[in-house]
Amino acid sequence: MTAPKCTRCPEPATHTLRSQPHCAACFSSFIRTKIVKRLESFRLIRRTGRGTEPIPTFIVPLSFGVASITLLDLLCWQMRKQMSYVTGPRYNIVVVHVDERILGGESGEGHLSPTQQVESLKSERFPEVQEWVVVNLEDIYDYRPRISSSTEEAHDIDGKEEGQSNKEAFEKLMQSLPSPTSRMDLAGVLRTRLVAEIGIKRRCEGVLWADTTTKLAQKAFAETAKGRGFALPWMISDVMSPYGIKFLYPLRELFMKELVTYAKELADPPLISLCWAYSEEPKHSAAKATSGRNITVDELMTQYFEQMEEQYPSIVSNVVRTANRLKVEDPNAEHCVICGLPGDGGASGLTLGAQEETEGISDGMCYGCLRSTHGATDKIDWPLGRT
Ligand SMILES: [Zn+2]
Ligand SMILES: [Zn+2]
Repeated sequence: MTAPKCTRCPEPATHTLRSQPHCAACFSSFIRTKIVKRLESFRLIRRTGRGTEPIPTFIVPLSFGVASITLLDLLCWQMRKQMSYVTGPRYNIVVVHVDERILGGESGEGHLSPTQQVESLKSERFPEVQEWVVVNLEDIYDYRPRISSSTEEAHDIDGKEEGQSNKEAFEKLMQSLPSPTSRMDLAGVLRTRLVAEIGIKRRCEGVLWADTTTKLAQKAFAETAKGRGFALPWMISDVMSPYGIKFLYPLRELFMKELVTYAKELADPPLISLCWAYSEEPKHSAAKATSGRNITVDELMTQYFEQMEEQYPSIVSNVVRTANRLKVEDPNAEHCVICGLPGDGGASGLTLGAQEETEGISDGMCYGCLRSTHGATDKIDWPLGRT
């Protein structure tokens, strides 16, 4: 029996992509085209030349997972191509790695620190990157609110006590939270806001998040389960975020497994050895969840959609497509003091108990943040102010 031919060219097929036989070259070109088309659809890459505006700069958050490494690789590939044109590259990128070791996770394979990992990428693989930033998650305390409703609030807002280090303040905040789900939720909120702040400080045009279809579907379900469903349009659509910088998702039409195939088998040289945060083993297996600690909502959803993607990719795409059509209820609503997203029309009617409801509203929190902080052992000292 002869091997099937590629759907797109006369070469023999080596891979299956979206149920069709493909050769390696056509698989790679499918991935590249999806990303390039998405980037073009943002209409942010302006024509360069005399008398035109400077080229835009984008923030690219790097977690050392397969998605962010692949995105970085493909952006650099595109810039490299553009550099050979007379007009030169049409955008710049600043890569940001948020060091989250304070949350107790591992920092990746081997014993390289995040800074060393970044150092090794810099010169070897991605010389097109304009700037590399490594920042600790707890350093969110260094970002003072840009706008504050009152000066009184501004003085007291960075949430730290006199003489306390960022690390101490962050650890105290995390310890006071009631569950692993709320710690992971609020650490995620802070990570997003830190990346946004770094982008704004550098006058970047937008953040290019490496969320795949799979990741966006997971986010849609997890945020809904955590009570922040009102905010989905801000979290999964390509829009101006409430933080004052555009959030863009160039990988939104690609599945996680397609990127894994690309990183392992198609990229030349392979990218997988650079994906320190990637492991073959599912990170959040059910066995692990019952053996040790509680699985968080985010972990549960990651696990669920990674399995769903294998068998029912169209359902996963539909989740994202549907969620992407949701409209913001009231874009001018007051922003939540914790997550910074425009409110959910007040947490009224969604009670956690009469007392919390009243307190929550007076504290200016959305329902999701109210739930994440419900049962905190201490007063929540939040590092950021209203957006
Ligand atoms: Zn082909
Ligand atoms: Zn909130």
